[in-house]
Amino acid sequence: MSNEKRYDAVKAIAEMKGTAPCGALPANIDDYGEDVFNFAAMQKWLPKAAFEKLKATVEGGLPLDPAIAGDVAHAMKEWAISRGATSFTHWFQPLTGNTAEKHDSFLETDGCHAILSFSGKNLIVGEPDASSFPSGGLRSTFEARGYTAWDPTSPAFIKRHGNGATLCIPTAFCSYTGEALDRKTPLLRSIQALGNATKKLMRCFQLPDEKVTVTLGPEQEYFLIDKRFYLQRPDLLQTGRTLFGAPPAKHQQLEDHYFGTIKMRVLNFMNEVERELWKLGIPAKTRHNEVAPAQFELAPIFEELNLACDHNMLVMEVLRQTADRYGFVCLMHEKPFAGVNGSGKHNNWSVSYGKRNLLNPGNDPCQNAIFLTILCAIIEAIDLHADLLRSAVTGVGNDHRLGANEAPPAVISMYLGDQLSDVIDQLEKGEPKSNKHGGTLRIGVDTLPALPQDATDRNRTSPFAFTGNKFEFRAPGSSQPCSGPNVILNTIVADAFERMAETLAKFPEAEFHTLLQNHLQRIVKQHKRIIFNGDGYAPGWLEEAARRGLPNFKTTMEALKVLTTDENIALFEKYNVFRRRELVSRYEVFMEDYHRKVKIEGEVALEIARCMIFPAVAAEYGKLVDALGKAESLKFSKGTESLRHRAALLGEALDVLNRESDALSRALNGEHEGILLALSRIRATVDELEKFVPDNSWPLPKYREMLFIY
Ligand code: ADP
Ligand code: MG
Repeated sequence: MSNEKRYDAVKAIAEMKGTAPCGALPANIDDYGEDVFNFAAMQKWLPKAAFEKLKATVEGGLPLDPAIAGDVAHAMKEWAISRGATSFTHWFQPLTGNTAEKHDSFLETDGCHAILSFSGKNLIVGEPDASSFPSGGLRSTFEARGYTAWDPTSPAFIKRHGNGATLCIPTAFCSYTGEALDRKTPLLRSIQALGNATKKLMRCFQLPDEKVTVTLGPEQEYFLIDKRFYLQRPDLLQTGRTLFGAPPAKHQQLEDHYFGTIKMRVLNFMNEVERELWKLGIPAKTRHNEVAPAQFELAPIFEELNLACDHNMLVMEVLRQTADRYGFVCLMHEKPFAGVNGSGKHNNWSVSYGKRNLLNPGNDPCQNAIFLTILCAIIEAIDLHADLLRSAVTGVGNDHRLGANEAPPAVISMYLGDQLSDVIDQLEKGEPKSNKHGGTLRIGVDTLPALPQDATDRNRTSPFAFTGNKFEFRAPGSSQPCSGPNVILNTIVADAFERMAETLAKFPEAEFHTLLQNHLQRIVKQHKRIIFNGDGYAPGWLEEAARRGLPNFKTTMEALKVLTTDENIALFEKYNVFRRRELVSRYEVFMEDYHRKVKIEGEVALEIARCMIFPAVAAEYGKLVDALGKAESLKFSKGTESLRHRAALLGEALDVLNRESDALSRALNGEHEGILLALSRIRATVDELEKFVPDNSWPLPKYREMLFIY
């Protein structure tokens, strides 16, 4: 038995010219936002009064005037038709982790005429059948209806396919009783909570109310492999990751891929992705080779959080679809290949007040005091709720990064860098000294320490790092929607801001700065255990973290439990981010999702082991036994020993493989721990066999092919 399919794939790739498909065009700035119903389009297509009202809603967060819905719907439809659309959909984000869409055409007929129509009601609410989305018991089957509600703060856009286009309206998705069934609803609520808390805190510094904007720049990592290999891997097809595969001799140990020259075929793909994203008004900015072979990154310019979350969902979709056009498959899984780096989604997060980024160390004394206050509040938030932050990045894929053999570790800690840590130390000791680093700011408030002007140290191993003017949460997985971690982050920071504001509001003006310093000092003393500037991969760190009492939840199942403690439910209810039932339902959905995915992995592995690997090994074993029989019957003295040795090795491995397949099969009826254990055992056997079965008989594309031939 030989497997020519792998060789055929290699040959076909070798004959490719690395050129873009015909018709491909350069990314063009003139196209930027052309498929978005943005302010320019609104202004052009809407009556002036309606435009002003809609703009006020989008920019100022004012409630939408229902009276303009009809005008907006009409304008949106006319605009969409002018751009080739004939259908529309409410576009939403159920708890599957993907986006969802159900298309309706604009068609209306009265029996003899057909027209294209779209009403205010069509725009504002939809009633998709929600019974087949995960709801964790929130929606009983007799009340299958779900409601999608237009989110005017994220602009409608057009999705194109070969011969048509669809108007997509970003919406929130909830049950008949108003409970969130999606990821957007809690995100919007958490943004509001953080906005309110920030305003309260700023009032303590005598600042007038301004608009609060939470900002996000998500760095998206992904792998690209040739589709011809992908189609030969049932594990990739069904689970997004390889369940088998021996590490190749060379993978990432030479550190030669990161920031390396980008291959032409990949660059063509990236250009096309940017072209698509620019049309959608998504500010794709940075592209580069990542650490692992065949791994890449795309980073947009940061945007308002709700929009950035929607945009990231689209980025993942455009990456996948464009990859397909270029003969690639884009793998967004957190750990598609064992033994090389997995993919994350660095969550660069900050809060702006008016035009000022609150995480920018300022250049006047008042601003510095605000910066230190914000920083201390965030230190408190992360220390108090490290477990919640961890729970926000759970998932079957991410378990292979966090807490496994790759970073960031599952222990949440904060990195501030040496300079800022020095500042925090001074604050704690209450002994501001002139800062030894160059370029420091003079601080008018004597009691507060000086701030380094450029605290841009880099540390790549910390889960939660201050990077100059923002925090970078590095634990989220590459496939995960951004909303999850940010809902948690916003809520715990809102809570810390509220507490801070309540305390500061009581300080008499004359003593404000002295009392502020004392208060910040207390916070630092109490919560500094969360700060860790060292190497998060170092083995000693986990012991040190345990001594500090920092939680270390290695797996999804452990980490998810904190979602439903009374304390945490009370926290989310206080800020109207989640109701109890919503949290309980999410807990159930995420647990079930995890269990189901593990079970699918087990089933796929079993099929591959029994129906692909076993027959390949058995065939080779048979050949060896035949050869041995022949050699012995001809009384050959040479070669029989090695034939016997190899046949025995494969024969024994066949028996082991068979036993382990049966064990996996039994484990599939039980809990995930048993399945995972059986999976890892059978994988070890198969990966070892890969090194002994003739290359042309191995039924699965190998790591060295998938990761290097493209
Ligand atoms: P790195 O060196 O960590 O890769 P980059 O300069 O590539 O950092 O930036 C990472 C991301 O952080 C980008 O998406 C960038 O737009 C975003 N970013 C920058 N400033 C902010 C901010 N104030 N709020 C949120 N994200 C930001
Ligand atoms: Mg970064």
